[in-house]
Amino acid sequence: MVARMVELVLEKEAEFSALDAAVGDGDFGASLAKGFSKLREEWEELPKEDMGAFLKACGLLIGEECGGASGPLWGGAFRAAAKAAKDKEALGVEDLALLLDQAVLSIQKTGKAEAGDKTMVDALLPAVKSLVQDAQAHLPLEEALKNAAAAAMEGAEATRDMVAKRGRASYLGERTVGHPDPGAMAVGILLQGVYEHRKT
Ligand code: ADP
Ligand code: MG
Ligand code: MG
Repeated sequence: MVARMVELVLEKEAEFSALDAAVGDGDFGASLAKGFSKLREEWEELPKEDMGAFLKACGLLIGEECGGASGPLWGGAFRAAAKAAKDKEALGVEDLALLLDQAVLSIQKTGKAEAGDKTMVDALLPAVKSLVQDAQAHLPLEEALKNAAAAAMEGAEATRDMVAKRGRASYLGERTVGHPDPGAMAVGILLQGVYEHRKT
């Protein structure tokens, strides 16, 4: 899943930056790509023996290398997911729900964004909700991932009508209405990409 995310972040760099150009400073794609290309460079050296160690190493690199708001937010999210994944060797729907839940909590703790503030949180919270429901319904991982990706995409699309309350986009306030939040769109696109990749 992380390998697919790395590919996608690098593939979508220009698209992500263009989204940020409309509501922020246009560096979102480049900021993410900086950290994720480092992941690709260091890939062979990353610890793969357990998920916690792997995600922690990813989080540290992302936190150090990604620029702007994205470094601390995405780095912290990966490190929070790492704690939740400690000693796990496989990932079920319930585990994935927990990992993503801890990731969002970390983002909210760092960035203080609530639902509706027009940030990546608006894509992540619906994805977590969908995973929790699907874990309770004992759906297979593939189906749960599909639903989580759709929920994230829907959440990201809904940011179009919101006024930005956090991050650099908040300086533009009302003028951000009509444009989706770049971070939320990235979350939707990455989850969708992870799902499509697993399906094949
Ligand atoms: P910067 O504003 O420093 O240039 P980036 O362009 O790397 O940051 O990232 C912008 C994205 O980060 C936004 O689209 C938003 O989703 C997310 N973001 C920014 N600030 C916050 C925050 N306080 N809480 C949650 N997410 C945030
Ligand atoms: Mg930016
Ligand atoms: Mg910036």
